[in-house]
Amino acid sequence: MRERLAGEVSALKAKGIVPGLSVVLVGDDPASAVYVRNKNAACDEVGMKGETIRMRANTTQAELIDVVHTLNRRKDVHGILVQMPLPKQIDSDTVLRHIDPAKDVDGFHPVNVGGMLVGNPEAFVPCTPAGVMVLLREHGVKTAGAHAVIVGRSNIVGKPMMALLVQPGVDATVTVCHSRTRDMAAHIRQADIVIAAVGKPRLITGDMIKPGAVVIDVGINRIDDPSHPKGSRLVGDVDFDSARDVASLITPVPGGVGPMTIAMLLENTLQAAKRAAGR
Ligand code: NAP
Repeated sequence: MRERLAGEVSALKAKGIVPGLSVVLVGDDPASAVYVRNKNAACDEVGMKGETIRMRANTTQAELIDVVHTLNRRKDVHGILVQMPLPKQIDSDTVLRHIDPAKDVDGFHPVNVGGMLVGNPEAFVPCTPAGVMVLLREHGVKTAGAHAVIVGRSNIVGKPMMALLVQPGVDATVTVCHSRTRDMAAHIRQADIVIAAVGKPRLITGDMIKPGAVVIDVGINRIDDPSHPKGSRLVGDVDFDSARDVASLITPVPGGVGPMTIAMLLENTLQAAKRAAGR
């Protein structure tokens, strides 16, 4: 995908358009800083213009909204991303509603969320679920009539995943599990496709998975591991070692969904730049 994106970016550049992504980082959360750095590096790699706007942790909501409005007006900015989580004095839903939906490459603005739900192909789809759909498609996973079980119902992963899998043309039958679900394992055992987006290290084990099922692990969890040079390492929501022998396909953590998410952010930014050029 990154190779294709780099090709498309250079074609746009030949017409004088450089796709630009602005990431707004408020505060000094170390994990957010790493994510933002990775997003910028990915922009550079495909020839896009990435910029990070850093704001102090005690930034007010009004100040942040002012910055968003400035980015909405800038012609060289095609994609705007406000890195979550935001400090507690700021209401993220309010801020998201101020992003121009045409620049909302995270797909969190209600206009895009609604557009995705009704199957509008112009709507920006949140990057992680969009990446999962590409993984399924590129690996030839048959979704029509398949039973997909999603574990997690967040607005950024679980719920959009549900909306995308049930769309006509994708045609999966979808079950969504969450913390109040009774006997989650019984649901997962029926799944042809398991999507894990929980945030609990290795919650889903091989014995819960139907032989031959496709397993997509969205979870990113840091666990202590004294044998590792850093003293810790990343694992998914699925216990990879027990699940890999049962599943027909499984995504690793790290790898898998994480890099796809960043690729989809670039894809959305490219689309935003192309549409701006066409206007
Ligand atoms: P979230 O907002 O915390 O949502 C977690 C969901 O899991 C909630 O719906 C929660 O249910 C459910 N849940 C929690 N414990 C459960 C249990 N024991 N059994 C069943 N369901 C349970 O998390 P998120 O933002 O969706 O992220 C999920 C994971 O994906 C995290 O590890 C995150 O780091 C990772 N992630 C990765 C990427 C990527 O690029 N790869 C992107 C986004 C997120 P309730 O709603 O009932 O509380």
